[in-house]
Amino acid sequence: MNNRWQTSLRDSFVSPAELAEKFNLDVAAMGTVTGRYPFRITRHYFNLIREIGDPVWRQSVPDLKELHDSCQLADPLNESGLSPVPGLIHRYPDRVVWLIANSCAVYCRFCMRKRQVGCSSGEISPTGSADALDYIRETATIRDVILSGGDPLLLDDASLEQILASLRQIPHVEIIRIGTRMPVTFPERITPALCSLIKRYHPVYLNTHFNHPVELTEASRIACAMLADAGIQLGNQTVLLAGVNDDPAVMAELCRKLLTIRVKPYYLHQMDLVRGTAHFRTTVKKGLEIMGQLRGHVSGLAVPYYVIDLPEGKGKVPLLPGDGAAADGSYLLRTYRGELVEYRDSATALPG
Ligand code: SF4
Repeated sequence: MNNRWQTSLRDSFVSPAELAEKFNLDVAAMGTVTGRYPFRITRHYFNLIREIGDPVWRQSVPDLKELHDSCQLADPLNESGLSPVPGLIHRYPDRVVWLIANSCAVYCRFCMRKRQVGCSSGEISPTGSADALDYIRETATIRDVILSGGDPLLLDDASLEQILASLRQIPHVEIIRIGTRMPVTFPERITPALCSLIKRYHPVYLNTHFNHPVELTEASRIACAMLADAGIQLGNQTVLLAGVNDDPAVMAELCRKLLTIRVKPYYLHQMDLVRGTAHFRTTVKKGLEIMGQLRGHVSGLAVPYYVIDLPEGKGKVPLLPGDGAAADGSYLLRTYRGELVEYRDSATALPG
């Protein structure tokens, strides 16, 4: 029998023709995009759209520009090269990202795993999951497991519980993290049953992904309160997106309001150089300008780390206001291993 949230998810928009009933758009053109990259918008998220091109629209409605971006890589962070077994990414010594689901309630147009999320190439097999679990069990340096995907909370409760229980049987796994956009795009998924399930496997941290203040609805606030009341520490990872949140006032409002729903702003990500997302790219200079205006103007608790996830999987590097570019526009960044890497804004294929 399906839960209410599963029934409600089936009521999502999955074709451009459904959007055309409310908005004037080119269904055929949009269909060429959805033929390449998957599409779904929940009723909840769709109801936040006020007009074509607004921040929620840009994040969720397919755009022909996704197909006209050939100069970036499908997997710039080299996740596949850092996978000792399918579905597991081992980039840092003490932690792994385990991709336990391959679908999402809303397919974000800027997704860094656009190459596989929602596509048959990213499907997760039971054998793959067993291999991932074996690898974690046999690698004693792993202290921190990040459940990601797709969206891990699209698994049903029983499947999620099986994974959490298996991890908790491994003595060297100290903490579990869940990366999910459900509180933003599909808050109905955060049920009392789900919260009490997660609570049985503490310490569990949950990072969600609000990108704009309009996403902080009453339903999202209640979902976050339920999670927080279950003792789950909540953080937020925002992606800096052109035309969505590349504005100091918008970012300040987002970060301030997140604290009011008990979510700590954790990361502000410079966009990864992922094929199909160039139209969302901003400059590092813009990110630093935003960070400069946050500092001192919002509570220190509301200030996230501004990070670049370096190409080829070299890891995240934080940047601070005042970090300047060289005359040629490049930034010299030091990886967590101490290696110096040159990162160029000019390499980010800025549109227009
Ligand atoms: S919820 Fe996360 S994994 Fe899913 S499409 Fe959005 S960004 Fe990608």
